[in-house]
Amino acid sequence: MLYLVGTPIGNMGDISQRAREVLASADLIACEDTRRTGILLKNLGITNKLFAYHEHNKAAKGPVLISRLKQGETVCLVSDAGMPSISDPGEDLVKLCIEEGVDVSAVPGPVAAITALVLSGLDTRRYHYEGFLPSENSERKKRLEALKDIRETMIIYEAPHRLIKLIDELILNGFGSSGAAFCRELTKRYEQVIRCTVSEAKEYFTGTEPKGEFVVCLQPLPEESGDIDVEALIGRFLDEGLSTKETASRVSGMTGISKKDVYERVIKYRADGN
Ligand code: SAM
Repeated sequence: MLYLVGTPIGNMGDISQRAREVLASADLIACEDTRRTGILLKNLGITNKLFAYHEHNKAAKGPVLISRLKQGETVCLVSDAGMPSISDPGEDLVKLCIEEGVDVSAVPGPVAAITALVLSGLDTRRYHYEGFLPSENSERKKRLEALKDIRETMIIYEAPHRLIKLIDELILNGFGSSGAAFCRELTKRYEQVIRCTVSEAKEYFTGTEPKGEFVVCLQPLPEESGDIDVEALIGRFLDEGLSTKETASRVSGMTGISKKDVYERVIKYRADGN
């Protein structure tokens, strides 16, 4: 049996009794970083064998784990923090187990995304888990574009050194006035939840360097309402003498449609001879 075992996202007190028991009785504990998990296990007084299973060796090590599981061994999979398979290796091993007829069970534990969501003060009834946006430019742009069509609270993971870049990208995509929660160092000593609009966050983090681990919860853009006649708004602002750029900015702020999209619509509006 493979057990996916949740471990704390910061506060060691969050390890469950069942996680301790299952880890203690396992034949093998597969983990991303044997040094890091070694410290956790040492704290728990557990000395089982560790086995490195991570992004860079998973293709080779997955079949090794399957073979041990098929021999009847109990294997636990843990990640550096939280639940394995949530923006962490694990998904591939679960798929492999299912393909190979190996049983999989979970010992649930904390997940940074859900911890942030419940603290965000945003809508929790429906949500979209985005995790990390791709680092590659064109893929990242595509995902940012896709976020504009999501109508549920979005949950994004981001490294502190890229947080301001993410905020800039969100503003560029029309999320400046969206409510957000910047959840930092959850369950740890310096836990902090900054609830503000994305534009306000830009101001805040320009003065205060982002440090620690972050989850960003983001309110969706308002649905392009049938009640708002975007073209009529564009016409009104152009008639008032505003430039294409100013019109795009004003209409974007009023409708939640990205500046870039409105900008293109203003160009088209002008080209159509209005
Ligand atoms: N498997 C983990 C989970 O269940 O949430 C996620 C692992 S992912 C590799 C690491 C990212 O999770 C961090 O970059 C950060 O965005 C988020 N994270 C993990 N622990 C956190 C914490 N204590 N506070 C805020 N964010 C955290």
